[in-house]
Amino acid sequence: MHRTNIPSSHPRAKSLYIRELLVNGFKNGMVVQEGLIAHGRGETFDYLLGEGTTETAYTAIKAACSLLLLADHPVISVNGNVAALCSKDVVELSHLIDADIEVNLFYWTEEREIAIEKELKKMGAKKVLGTRSGGSARIPGLQSERRIVDQDGIYKADTVLVPLEDGDRTEALVKMNKKVIAIDLNPLSRTSKAATVTVIDNVIRALPTMAIEAKQLKQKKGQILKKIVNEFDNTKNLSESLEIIRCGMNARQR
Ligand code: ATP
Ligand code: MG
Repeated sequence: MHRTNIPSSHPRAKSLYIRELLVNGFKNGMVVQEGLIAHGRGETFDYLLGEGTTETAYTAIKAACSLLLLADHPVISVNGNVAALCSKDVVELSHLIDADIEVNLFYWTEEREIAIEKELKKMGAKKVLGTRSGGSARIPGLQSERRIVDQDGIYKADTVLVPLEDGDRTEALVKMNKKVIAIDLNPLSRTSKAATVTVIDNVIRALPTMAIEAKQLKQKKGQILKKIVNEFDNTKNLSESLEIIRCGMNARQR
């Protein structure tokens, strides 16, 4: 696949590399044009947050991993951007937490679903759920294509990890009494506010960090994981991320 020659000394090298992954995902048929624009909204918040995983995000990552390890039926929902940016990390995390992987797309086409499934399988996924092979169910109260979910996957799941989600679907999943873990750079989005645990971080950093953390927390007793979950306050955590943005802006102004 096409690679530009981004010098590692370029001040925005990492950010340009992420863009390149998305553009390659677009050329492979996994990412849609709208996904490239949605990434732009994320980039803005990443810039404001300092382009690194904050302590606040790390606290949310611990709570997210604890929830996933406590779940009876966890599912990781994958869209085009997630597939282009971190298929390998999705697969690694799914093995660690024993989760199903399900493709779920706002701009659904069979070709896209197949392209994403192929990428996930290339990275080691044994089974990828989706809506193509029929047997699909509907999330009540949603109009978009994302309402269509796998009967045996998201529909039945007790805990869903939704990196890069829509606010309305997060709200609908919570209404179905599911625990929802979101990864979203925007602490002000409806997704961030509606989720049970929101990790305010770039998905490209958050997922590998979650894998490292899940490996460690897997050794702990259920009681310890429950304590981590109970002590986590999503609203407070989101306020802390906003505070990081606010303080960062003040410091840069000087
Ligand atoms: P909501 O529907 O939750 O209110 P939104 O409408 O503002 O969100 P969408 O366009 O639906 O946003 O989805 C894009 C979301 O994904 C944005 O909140 C953006 O910050 C986030 N995002 C984009 N790229 C990344 C990334 N690489 N890592 C984490 N979050 C990202
Ligand atoms: Mg939205």
